[in-house]
Amino acid sequence: QDLLGRIDRLDGTLNSFVSVTADQALEAAEAADQARARGEAGRLTGVPLALKDIFCTQGVKTSCGSKMLDNFVAPYDATVVEKLKAAGTVSLGKTNMDEFAMGSSNESSFYGPVKNPWDLDAVPGGSSGGSAAAVAAGLVPAALGTDTGGSIRQPAAFCGITGLKPTYGRVSRYGMIAYASSLDQGGPMARSAEDCAHLLNVIAGHDVRDSTSVARGVPDYTEELSAPLSGLKIGLPKEYFGDGLDAGVNQAIGEAIKVYESLGASVREVSLPHTAYAIPAYYVIAPAEASSNLSRYDGVRFGHRCDNPEDLIDLYKRSRAEGFGEEVKRRILIGTHTLSEGFFDAYYKKAQQVRRLIRQDFLDAFEEVDVLMGPAAPTPAFDLGAQKDPVSMYLQDIYTIAVNLAGIPGISVPAGFAGKRPVGLQILGTHFAETRLLNVAHQFQ
Ligand code: GLN
Repeated sequence: QDLLGRIDRLDGTLNSFVSVTADQALEAAEAADQARARGEAGRLTGVPLALKDIFCTQGVKTSCGSKMLDNFVAPYDATVVEKLKAAGTVSLGKTNMDEFAMGSSNESSFYGPVKNPWDLDAVPGGSSGGSAAAVAAGLVPAALGTDTGGSIRQPAAFCGITGLKPTYGRVSRYGMIAYASSLDQGGPMARSAEDCAHLLNVIAGHDVRDSTSVARGVPDYTEELSAPLSGLKIGLPKEYFGDGLDAGVNQAIGEAIKVYESLGASVREVSLPHTAYAIPAYYVIAPAEASSNLSRYDGVRFGHRCDNPEDLIDLYKRSRAEGFGEEVKRRILIGTHTLSEGFFDAYYKKAQQVRRLIRQDFLDAFEEVDVLMGPAAPTPAFDLGAQKDPVSMYLQDIYTIAVNLAGIPGISVPAGFAGKRPVGLQILGTHFAETRLLNVAHQFQ
């Protein structure tokens, strides 16, 4: 009730929620109280949280930030939603996001931009900007986000919270609306690595309904949080500290690295030589997969349907023209082009080959060091409306995107400020190294 009141007071300004599900929340809270009274409470019983509006929630609008799904009430729960409910958590609602998770600023949402609680002139980052802002403003202690090219880590960095993108396949994608299926991964956003560990304990694991989820045991991610860091080998990718890195961000990251040295870690420079190709490869692969995934929105089965279609083609055309925003249309056009006969080999296939090299860069680096560290984004949160050109927005993703192409996990932790805007330190590990990442993040906090 306290948090619902806080949302009521503050979210008119922040716009971090698309839907607040107060009735269901109070019911779930009541059930949590009863479970506690029966002595059946688990670690997360009664913990309030919020869900990015990309996760299907039974009986609740699931818009994915799009006019296309403004009328869509999901008939089932995503696996992670089911698991969080079973763990006794209480969802307060669905958070705002870039349309279909395409964006780095939350400005492509049909429901309008979200404001950064640290500075209302700044974006919260994207695409999980609503989740990040809601946690940063204390509207909820934790939220779920998704990360296809940085959408958990970059908004976490911009809003001064902790966000973890798990290894691809660690968390089920069933019921998570697809953007780019080979890159999408859900994960926790919270105030601390410890809170993220508790959430990951619940949401991780194999799911027969997602064939890309990995059949591998789920450890207790809180167990190693306090392990000492003496002897930890940290690599600093030289490509992550080059031109275009804001001086204030660079300084905050440098100070964070010194803290790790004081905790007994050693630091050395490493190279990820194909870094420069990550953005071009991603912006071929992600739109290609998106154009295929978004073909289901045809105005027939669910979602927006135009009025009085003349025939089937008119129905498709107008429903899609009206339902999708500008950035989504741009990606569908790019993806349809790069997948088309005659262009496939030159673009999509080439991008997949580059992806392989990028993955190998990381695997080679992890032969030398335990974790990589660097900034989560080249600048602190930028002003609302400042990035007018789509390509300059894409360039924001320079430090996050390669991680998704490689499938490895990454976490962003608050590492001070540049001016009054937060800076995020990104920590990367090899596949399934979440325990280690959470430990390293926790020791800093
Ligand atoms: N900014 C990137 C994009 O627009 C990443 C988004 C995401 O991770 N969902 O595609």
